[in-house]
Amino acid sequence: MVSARMASIQESTTLRISAMAKKLAAAGQDIIDMSVGEPDFDTPKYIVEAGCNSIRMGETHYAPTGGIPELRRQIAEKLVRDNSLRLTADDVFVTPGAKMAVFAAIQALMQEGDECVLIGPSWVSYEPCVAFAGGKVSWGRVDENFQPLDLVENINSRTRLIIVNSPSNPTGSVFDRTVLKEIRDLAVDHDLFVISDEIYEKIIYDHQHISIGSMEGMAERTITINGFSKSYAMTGWRLGYLAGPKETLKWVNRLLSHSVSQATTFVQRAGVAALQGPQDEVSAMVAEFRARRDILVSGLRDLGIPCSIPGGAFYVFPDFSHLGGGDAFTDRLLKEALIAATPGSAFGPDGKDYVRLSYAASRSRIAQALERIGRIVG
Ligand code: PMP
Repeated sequence: MVSARMASIQESTTLRISAMAKKLAAAGQDIIDMSVGEPDFDTPKYIVEAGCNSIRMGETHYAPTGGIPELRRQIAEKLVRDNSLRLTADDVFVTPGAKMAVFAAIQALMQEGDECVLIGPSWVSYEPCVAFAGGKVSWGRVDENFQPLDLVENINSRTRLIIVNSPSNPTGSVFDRTVLKEIRDLAVDHDLFVISDEIYEKIIYDHQHISIGSMEGMAERTITINGFSKSYAMTGWRLGYLAGPKETLKWVNRLLSHSVSQATTFVQRAGVAALQGPQDEVSAMVAEFRARRDILVSGLRDLGIPCSIPGGAFYVFPDFSHLGGGDAFTDRLLKEALIAATPGSAFGPDGKDYVRLSYAASRSRIAQALERIGRIVG
C-alpha cells in the first residue's frame, strides 16, 4: 500500500535513462551517454580544498537550517551584484541542492487544487513537486523557439504560480527582457507568485541573463532559485539556495527543519570558496560548451534534423517529428546507435516530437554520435 499522493508521482525519466546507460556501458557496450544532466568537468581544485580544509578544521557539526551566515552573506552579495536583486542575507536560504529549493518553495506556495503554469517543455521535477503539494500543472504553449505564447490562457482563479527557467532545461531557450516583462505583467495583474529557477544562469551564450525578481513589482512575489551544481561542476556536493519574501522563507525553514535539516556544513564552506574564488574555470567551461553546441547544432541540421539554437544550458532539443517522434527516436538511438538520450515527452506534452541531447560529452564523442545518427537517418 502506498499513499494516493505518492502513487501519482512518476519516476524521473532522466535518472532512469542515465542508470540504464551506465548499466549497458558497464556490460561492455560502447554507449555514448547524451542523457546526462551534469557538466563533464571536475569541481575546481580551490573549491575541493576549501571543503577538505573545513572537514579538517572540524566543521562537521550541525549548522543553522538556512545556512552558515558567511555563505548567506556571499550569496546575497552575488544576487545584488549579478542579478540586481534588492535583498540581504536574511532573505537567502541555503538548501541541499537547488532541487530541494524548488521542492520546498512549491510546497510553501501551493495548496490542494492550486495550479502552476509551466512554460512549454520543462524540467522533469517541477510537475512532481506540484503534485506533492496537491496542485496541478497547466502547460503554457510555446513557439518553435520555445518562447511563451498567450500565457493568459493558462490563468484562472486557481492559478497561484508561474515557473520561469531561463536558460531552460531541456530546451536551452533564454527569455529576453520583453518576454520576462510580459510574464511580470501577468504575475502582477493576476497576483501570482513566480519561481525563477536560474541554475543555468552562467551557462549562457550571446545573451544576457536577466532575473525576473529584479523587475518592478516582482520582489514581493518572486522566489529566485540557484545553486552550485552546474556553474561550478558541483552536482554531487548538493548545494543550492533560494531567495525571496521572508513569509515564504519562514515555511521553507519549517519544512527543512523537520526533514533534511540543512545543507552539509563543510559543503557550505566549499560554496563560499566557489563564490569568492577566481571565476576563470567557469568561463573556460562555458567556452567549451559553446563550441560543442555549435558542432552539434550544425551537425544535426546537416542531417536534415530541425534544431533551434539554444542560448544557454548544455542541451539541444531537436525535432524528430518527421522520424516518428521523440519516444520512437530515443528508442532507435539507444538500440541502433548506442546513444542514450532523453525523450522530449519526459518534459511535458509539448515535448513529444523532440529528443533532449546533452552535450556534456567530449567533442570527439559528439562527432561520433553525429556519425552514428547519420547512419540511422541517412
Ligand atoms: N533546476 C533545473 C532546471 C535543473 O536542471 C536541475 C538539475 N538537473 C536542478 C534545478 C537541480 O539542481 P541541483 O543539483 O542543485 O539540485
